[in-house]
Amino acid sequence: MLQDYVEVIKQGDSNGNGMLIRIKLPSGHEILGLPTENAYGGGWDLGPTWNYVVLDEKPFLVDTGKFGLGGRLLDMMKYAGISGKDLDFVMVSHGHEDHDGSLFKIAESTGAKVKGLDIYDRLIRFYPERAAYDSTKRFPASCWRCFMPESFSTKNCFEYQQTRSRLKIETIENECNLSKSALSYHVPGHSPDSLAIFVGGEAVLVGDTVLPDITPWPSQESFFDQVREILKPRYCSAESVYGLRAYIRSLAKLKEIGKSLGDLIVLPAHRLFYNSRWNELNLLTRIDELVEHHIQRCGAILKILEKGARTVREIAVEYFDEPLLKGFGILMAENEVISHCELLSACGDVVSIEHYKFAATGNMNFESAIQSLEPNW
Ligand SMILES: [Zn+2]
Ligand SMILES: [Zn+2]
Repeated sequence: MLQDYVEVIKQGDSNGNGMLIRIKLPSGHEILGLPTENAYGGGWDLGPTWNYVVLDEKPFLVDTGKFGLGGRLLDMMKYAGISGKDLDFVMVSHGHEDHDGSLFKIAESTGAKVKGLDIYDRLIRFYPERAAYDSTKRFPASCWRCFMPESFSTKNCFEYQQTRSRLKIETIENECNLSKSALSYHVPGHSPDSLAIFVGGEAVLVGDTVLPDITPWPSQESFFDQVREILKPRYCSAESVYGLRAYIRSLAKLKEIGKSLGDLIVLPAHRLFYNSRWNELNLLTRIDELVEHHIQRCGAILKILEKGARTVREIAVEYFDEPLLKGFGILMAENEVISHCELLSACGDVVSIEHYKFAATGNMNFESAIQSLEPNW
């Protein structure tokens, strides 16, 4: 049981905000869990970001919470007996603001090195001469295809992106020994720079790639178009790092590693504790559920398209319940539909007949296509 390994250092609220825990692995390795608030407002709540300090020979921090919470996170570490100055290095599970928002602040105030994949190092920079549109010149490459409106990004992300772009990154390989007992793997899909970190063959930090309750949204393969030149020559195809196919390949990769290791304590970046309960995950079972979810969703979209060609928005409105479509919900729903239509189109089940409009071909290849996606080593 997860609880058997968890010592609560400080109680928080029913969703884990303000909580502080120590996870004691059977081998004696310890990991601190430090959830920081992650409220965007509106009805949708992912729960706090679970940042973790792995107490290896030298401690290192994975994830840094939202922009502006670096000081809070350092205070939490202090409360648990770790000074920021003790950190060997800091890294993030992926480049979303709820995870790398305070990376710059933490690196600056502790002097710790920052480790990250080459793809992260490239995407956080600004390339005004390469940006395709005036509106994108003001944003780093990671955000050129953000589906949120520009007004939202300017208000919420600008300062964060400016400071983030000044980070010095020590780049790591796609498979990398981080310390004596920790090993990281590139698991792109939710974002192109997602990582999973295995600790001592006993625990795995899965970031947003595997979550309890929630099915993480996949990125779109089309995000690759604008950053192609920036990612060359290392990442040459969209589906190697972006979109639903990359995501499912990464799940297959995690499953293969998980199978070789036996029982693992799964530490997700959201909802380890939520609604007054611990979410204990079995890595292999949860991965099967996530893959099944995407098979079902592809099937449902195909069913809608069997009635006739539809735009992405029409599919989203027909498929998702109304409350989910409120505010920015419609944009997230459209992203979800596009990711699935990209996969359906890659396996010949749908065709794009005009921009963001798809038609069914009569084929039903998606299920076997998904099942046969191999790990992306
Ligand atoms: Zn994320
Ligand atoms: Zn997140």
